[in-house]
Amino acid sequence: MMAGGTFSAIEHIFPKNQKFLSGAFSRLTKGRLWLQVLIAMVLGIGTGLLLNPDTEIVSRPVAIGIGEWLALPGNLFLAFIQMIVVPLILASIIRGIAAATDVRQLKSTGVGLAFYFVGSTIVAAALGVAIGLMLTPGNYVDRAVVPVVELTGQVAELAAQGEAKAAKPFSLVDIPTGITELLPTNPLNSIVSGDMLQIVIFSIVLGMGLLSVPPSSSKPLFELLGSVQEISMAIVATVMTFAPVAVFGLLAQAMIKTGPGILAGLAAYAAVVVLGMALLLVFYLITAAVLGGRNPLEMLRAIREPFLLGFSTNSSAATMPVTVKTAEEVLKVRPSLAQFIVPLGATMNMGGTALYQALATIFMAQLYQIDLSTGVLMALIATTVGASIGTPAVPGVGIVVLASVLSSVGVPLSGLALIVGLDRILERFRTSLNVTGDLVACVVMDRLVPASVSRESEISSAAQREHIHETQGEDVVISS
Ligand code: ASP
Repeated sequence: MMAGGTFSAIEHIFPKNQKFLSGAFSRLTKGRLWLQVLIAMVLGIGTGLLLNPDTEIVSRPVAIGIGEWLALPGNLFLAFIQMIVVPLILASIIRGIAAATDVRQLKSTGVGLAFYFVGSTIVAAALGVAIGLMLTPGNYVDRAVVPVVELTGQVAELAAQGEAKAAKPFSLVDIPTGITELLPTNPLNSIVSGDMLQIVIFSIVLGMGLLSVPPSSSKPLFELLGSVQEISMAIVATVMTFAPVAVFGLLAQAMIKTGPGILAGLAAYAAVVVLGMALLLVFYLITAAVLGGRNPLEMLRAIREPFLLGFSTNSSAATMPVTVKTAEEVLKVRPSLAQFIVPLGATMNMGGTALYQALATIFMAQLYQIDLSTGVLMALIATTVGASIGTPAVPGVGIVVLASVLSSVGVPLSGLALIVGLDRILERFRTSLNVTGDLVACVVMDRLVPASVSRESEISSAAQREHIHETQGEDVVISS
């Protein structure tokens, strides 16, 4: 079918650009959501530390009870984002593929992206390992202030799964099976179980399939997906307005559980993580300069809005419309590339997450005084790259995926309970970096992938589409 060369269909289908969905988000950025989130973070930490049983203002059971209630809006917030992310990603990737102006460009972008995603994520993970080994954050923790905390909920469940997986000895024969398992034999099952990697692969296959059928056949599904995408985004935009309240409650609860002693003990760890993120930002800026030909200072200015929104929402997926808009309007990346790269990058390209998971593993190994051999460190980088690709672009899940990374290199999982509270803050940094990595991918591909259609004609036909959309309300248009 695809080999039959019937790809001409894509010339006639004009899916609406994702950046239109960013409208609802503009009030968030105009309202300085990031500042509200920062204030909420400080207030949440303060309230939590005040209510911590150690201060003896309230008794332990009362403090725990208050913490649960304070965290309620935040837990509802997380559940909403998780609820919406599967349809959103599915629709965005399929429509992103449909935005391709020609198949050759799509193929070369796909190959280039695979190299870029894997290559930059390996660098990020290696950076995490290197600074972890050099700065040894695990040695600064006063073990006396670290109480033994029980793993609970989703983290405990995943920890058990990760442990079971790691207990099985690895053999080369597992690789072909692993590759086959990437393809979902039952896509509905992947959707139900929220297996993000399988969902992404299914979306790519479906998107390619849709491109090879006549426009009249693909139009209904494109339109349906357009509605799904728009509705999901409307929900996300509404939910986002509650981000400050959510952050406040979640941090207050985390601090009630964590306490000032543990927090102070983890200060060195937090500082090393933030330093790592700063170094990763430098790496991204150098990559954008060398491969994408962009001035680092201009790049930094350009990415500000999605960077801060990533920090505030804590979700690369929720930030997507603003990322696309920035890529197209500020960085002047070809629309077809931006719409293809951003949804894929949001789910698969997570340099910040890779750096964090590698560094956190080294930190825990130091905490438990486990020596990691060079072989294990290599395996750690490989596992982290895979795990970050599979981490869903939603808040609160990166730490859960970390459980399987830890168990794969034999580091006890109980340490997770220690950093879970602090992670509510640190995950914001890695989300901002994940979003930055996607924008750098856009500028790099925009420079390296040859275009068959000139940027000007692509932009003018995009404007034409926008006009058709505005005047006729049509989302998908068959032009001949
Ligand atoms: N929340 C992050 C993101 O959406 C993923 C993570 O937690 O590592 O990019």
